[in-house]
Amino acid sequence: MSGRAIVAGGSIGGLFAAAMLRRAGWEVIVLERARAELAGRGAGIVTHDLLVRLIEAAGADTADLGVEVRQRVAFDIWGAVTAAMALPQVVTSWERVHSSLRRLVPEGSYRLGHTIARVEDLGGSVRLRTEEGAVIEGDIAIGADGFRSAVRGWVAPGAAPEWSGYVVWRALATEADLPVHIRREVFEHFAFFLPAGSQILTYPIAGPDNDLRPGHRRLNLVWYLPVGRDALDDMLTDAEGRRHDMTIPPPAIRDEVLDAMMQAARARLARPFVEILERAERPFFTPIYDHLAPVFARGRIALAGDAAAVARPHVGMGVTKAAADAEALARHLGQNAPEAALAAYSAERHAAAALAVGVGRTLGAWIVAAGGRADGTAHPHEQAFLAQTAVVPAGPLT
Ligand SMILES: Cc1cc2nc3c(=O)[nH]c(=O)nc-3n(C[C@H](O)[C@H](O)[C@H](O)COP(=O)(O)OP(=O)(O)OC[C@H]3O[C@@H](n4cnc5c(N)ncnc54)[C@H](O)[C@@H]3O)c2cc1C
Repeated sequence: MSGRAIVAGGSIGGLFAAAMLRRAGWEVIVLERARAELAGRGAGIVTHDLLVRLIEAAGADTADLGVEVRQRVAFDIWGAVTAAMALPQVVTSWERVHSSLRRLVPEGSYRLGHTIARVEDLGGSVRLRTEEGAVIEGDIAIGADGFRSAVRGWVAPGAAPEWSGYVVWRALATEADLPVHIRREVFEHFAFFLPAGSQILTYPIAGPDNDLRPGHRRLNLVWYLPVGRDALDDMLTDAEGRRHDMTIPPPAIRDEVLDAMMQAARARLARPFVEILERAERPFFTPIYDHLAPVFARGRIALAGDAAAVARPHVGMGVTKAAADAEALARHLGQNAPEAALAAYSAERHAAAALAVGVGRTLGAWIVAAGGRADGTAHPHEQAFLAQTAVVPAGPLT
């Protein structure tokens, strides 16, 4: 069947849903809270064959998708290689994926400045009301409104993200600004440093505007670090004394918080990673949460992408999972009436998301566990980190 789908959220999850449903013959309206076009979110997105197939299935292009990384290499604190593994992957960026999907949704169908306040299942149809006063009706509603989803309240009341006990610091440095030894020995790899109780990764991504020319590319540094509740409260408090809820916008992170991170980096990290941080644009942190809604659909309302489930970033699955959700939505809606189709979608995608959430938790538990040494040698899970980080877990997703 086909009809009119109202998608809440116009980021990558909402755009994948819109593109896949449009290809299946649905009329789609995307309602996005932001008042201006979304841009410049996050950094590297590690791709998988499955993601490339799904981008193409959505009708978007995959030419010049990103930077190709050939192998994974773990270093100790002195810069010596402790392990290596061939694993070719392309690292793309949020902007690259978002912009190619955004072009697939015509202007009138993508409405900025629409914040979903209420969703009603009327039996044979749905009605969405926005904080700005719009009332929009359709045959089904898809909540692709992120990990703090409003739509989730009507599908799975009470489901909420869970704090993991650690944060991720992220930083981007331009290739040309890095010392020669880092450009030669670290830049091209998916690089790991695995001291006990923490983890640092780096990988290359495109420069601004998807610039893939050597020298113009950037190195993405990711540092997972445990943080106590009180320390997190302090880190989420801005210079005006306002405590932000769950995450804090990067510009609001106080200088003292950044200084403390740099001090810890100098004391604990291998020298090349300190040098990368010293040359990076202002680093920022994100607390790590995950969640799995108990169901992904109720009646004519479904959840997709981060609204449905968030696996910790170690599995690098957020975009691929959102794309696979969208593909499954369109497929089931092509086979069944809306309620039955969304119930089948929920069963299929809940199982896949549970697998990704589980692997993310296991990798996260290994990162913060005491195993290994401060110098980055002898980590008991070194091989598993190299083999499983940002790799689609074997199972129903593949
Ligand atoms: C450190 C880190 C590394 C990551 N690395 C990877 C990786 O390597 N690979 C990967 O695939 N993923 C990665 N991710 C995850 C990835 O960025 C997301 O999973 C992905 O973008 C899917 O997002 P989404 O569209 O479902 O939600 P979001 O991107 O959160 O979008 C939700 C949208 O809904 C809008 N919205 C919210 N509330 C409302 C409302 N009430 N009404 C209307 N609109 C609303 C928001 O403005 C937003 O545009 C990483 C994440 C982190 C933190």
